[in-house]
Amino acid sequence: MQLNILKKKGEIYKAEIIESIPEGEDVSLYFHGDWHDLCRGPHLSSTGKIGKYFKLTKVSGAYWRGDSNNEMLQRVYGTSWSSQKELDDYLNRIEEAEKRDHRKIGKEMDLFHFREESPGSVFWHQKGWSLFQKLISYMRMKQETAGYQEINTPEILDRSLWEKSGHWEKFGANMYTSTTPDEKVFAIKPMNCPGCVQVFNQGLKSYRDLPLKMSEFGKVHRYEPSGALHGLLRVRAFTQDDAHIFCTEEQITEECLTVTNLILEIYKDLGFEEVILKYSDRPELRVGDDQVWDKSEAALLEAIKATKLEYSINKGEGAFYGPKIEFVLRDAIGRDWQCGTLQVDLNLPGRLGASFVDSDGNKKVPVMLHRALFGSLERFIGILIENYSGKLPFWLCPIQTIVIPISSDFDDYAKQVNSQLKKVGLSSEVDLKNHNLNYKIREHSLTKVPMLLICGKKEVDSNTVTIRRLDSKKQETMDLKKFLIKYSALNKAPSI
Ligand SMILES: [Zn+2]
Repeated sequence: MQLNILKKKGEIYKAEIIESIPEGEDVSLYFHGDWHDLCRGPHLSSTGKIGKYFKLTKVSGAYWRGDSNNEMLQRVYGTSWSSQKELDDYLNRIEEAEKRDHRKIGKEMDLFHFREESPGSVFWHQKGWSLFQKLISYMRMKQETAGYQEINTPEILDRSLWEKSGHWEKFGANMYTSTTPDEKVFAIKPMNCPGCVQVFNQGLKSYRDLPLKMSEFGKVHRYEPSGALHGLLRVRAFTQDDAHIFCTEEQITEECLTVTNLILEIYKDLGFEEVILKYSDRPELRVGDDQVWDKSEAALLEAIKATKLEYSINKGEGAFYGPKIEFVLRDAIGRDWQCGTLQVDLNLPGRLGASFVDSDGNKKVPVMLHRALFGSLERFIGILIENYSGKLPFWLCPIQTIVIPISSDFDDYAKQVNSQLKKVGLSSEVDLKNHNLNYKIREHSLTKVPMLLICGKKEVDSNTVTIRRLDSKKQETMDLKKFLIKYSALNKAPSI
């Protein structure tokens, strides 16, 4: 009947959709007077309930069913709000988000690019890679202080290991595989966990070794549909700041709290003060006994409550091997980003034969906590760029200073200053190109270099530099020695 109504009205596309739905499945249509629409719903009961303050934001062409052989349809985008202020705020947010797009800023700053030859994998340029390495050094330092041991495991592992771990069955659709010339099947790791358990399994472990914290900057590959890829924010190849903590059941709550505190400290260092926790419990598709799930869920919840932070519960959204906490941070324009995770796992260690000798002399299976703080380094960098509009904290800037002589007469002094800056650990460059000063200032402000150090006769004679800061026309002359002391001290995260 519905089909006939639509056909009669000339709604050939909607009719086509209905015809493609398998028999027996529900189809919902919405009626507003004599207007009918095919929609999953929900619809408003009356157009009178739409906010009076609206704006049509975009019109674009789209081929029917995304196929360029089909007809071109018009897509109209709009938004409506209940007050002019809400509408204005929303439009400002959208405009602000567009200005901050990390793909645009990443290009201007010469950080990275993507290519069709490897969709969803980043080609890091020198400056982007420098930022990447700065984040790794920072995290390495924090983890070392917190008692982690850093390891590294292979990227390609035999299919049999993934079968044993359960990934082959539960995660297979997202895994890249590789068949060797002698017909052996390997998988490119989508997670670092099984490799880490194999390191734990080397040598006899005692209860005195626990908690044992192993970290790994592990490169993983996960197949994502091409439509889901989005710059650095959604990729197929990424590096996790991963770690696994092997502990006893009694240690779970305390370890979860320690991890949570470390995460909050790190986010604060990077400028994110507002963090929300999301707790997810057992999903439908899972491994392990329900008794074991009961225990791990209770321990994780206890740790969450101890932080006294705001949290929400996502029923059924845990990992297939255990419950988890996700750490969501709020950026400068109010957007939420899920970054860190902490997962309790009472399944994998047992599946891969991990054990320790307890105080009573009996062998026991340790509990494993999976945790990542940035989550994916690639994605976190995307978030950082958008949060700061590319104007990163000084200690993270890929290039912190550029030394510019006002004419070639001062090239030697500029080179000398540059090498002293490098000596104290600052990322610096010298610009000896044959362009005028104003051109250079414009060029480097686009790449968001925080300070340009200008050198002319006055600076050479007094052994100083004239500082020109990003977005400021004011200049300040400083003794070179003083500059080196001041900025080498500022070249680190606040908590270090
Ligand atoms: Zn893991």
